[in-house]
Amino acid sequence: MKFISCIQPGQFQMGEKEAPVPNAGEVLLQIKRIGICGTDLHAFAGNQPFFTYPRILGHELAAEVKSIGSDVTNIKAGDRVVVMPYLSCGTCIACRNRKTNCCTQMKVLGVHVDGGMQEQITVPADLLIVVNDLSLDQLAVIEPLAIGAHALFRAKLTAGETIVVVGCGPIGLGLMKLAQLQELRVIAMDVNPDRLSYAREQLGIEHVIIANDDAVQKVSDITKGDLATAVFDATGNKAALESGIKYMAHGGQYILVGLNKGELTFHHPSIHAKESSILCSRNATFADFHQVIDVLYSGSFPIESFITHRAPFDRMIDHFQGWLEPENGVIKAMVEL
Ligand SMILES: [Zn+2]
Ligand SMILES: [Zn+2]
Repeated sequence: MKFISCIQPGQFQMGEKEAPVPNAGEVLLQIKRIGICGTDLHAFAGNQPFFTYPRILGHELAAEVKSIGSDVTNIKAGDRVVVMPYLSCGTCIACRNRKTNCCTQMKVLGVHVDGGMQEQITVPADLLIVVNDLSLDQLAVIEPLAIGAHALFRAKLTAGETIVVVGCGPIGLGLMKLAQLQELRVIAMDVNPDRLSYAREQLGIEHVIIANDDAVQKVSDITKGDLATAVFDATGNKAALESGIKYMAHGGQYILVGLNKGELTFHHPSIHAKESSILCSRNATFADFHQVIDVLYSGSFPIESFITHRAPFDRMIDHFQGWLEPENGVIKAMVEL
């Protein structure tokens, strides 16, 4: 079977190897879709924190079950599954508290261990959710949408609250749509007007703001001087992360979804005056995945416009560099097998 390895920053290589055999408790999957994520783009570009090469990337996976190992129940050959790509230890303090998404030993498929850019892969059965009646494309966007669902879960907001989402990449856009479905009032912010147009036209986000010096005033105008009770950063960009709290109301929450690889500085009197709650949101849980599956069943997520680029597995290497270029307007690129 074929696999694609990122052997060093900027270089993929296609290889051939023996298909794996599922051990007890494991399932052999035929990969059908690989969603390309910021993590993959950063890993390829060589600016992903904590990354080692060579690595088989890919963690947004839709697959079909080829065979099952012993001790696997509730999953059968031919089932269509979404992979929850977070390998947690099950015994650490976070896992014991059911926060498997921030396990002390966390290994993410395609990041810390080899992922889904291969025709077949074995994964533990307990990381799979069988979803036979959604499309393969829908299955492959569950993981990035679940990241947004988890961020919203962290904030525990109530309908009618106004939030700012900084960053209209796939994570930010997904978060906005889920927030809108929870009847939150959403303000989208980005430096890129095309991304903001997408948020307004395809997601129906009423307020979109260019992230410039006027942005605080605009958020203030929309909220009649209150500012937003929650601000989500979905950029991971240092300047954005350090300034996002400006849009937050006194007594509000600042939720960091995007990951920056360096240090952040906040002016303490400013964050203290607002009694700021600063939360990080890492990965997602089964509950988040199931919530997204329900949203996809309802048909309220615009999957057709969200997937902007496609390539067959055999041609992925040729297309990948282009997916990095901002002028190509990639929201979600999808690899098909
Ligand atoms: Zn991802
Ligand atoms: Zn753990």
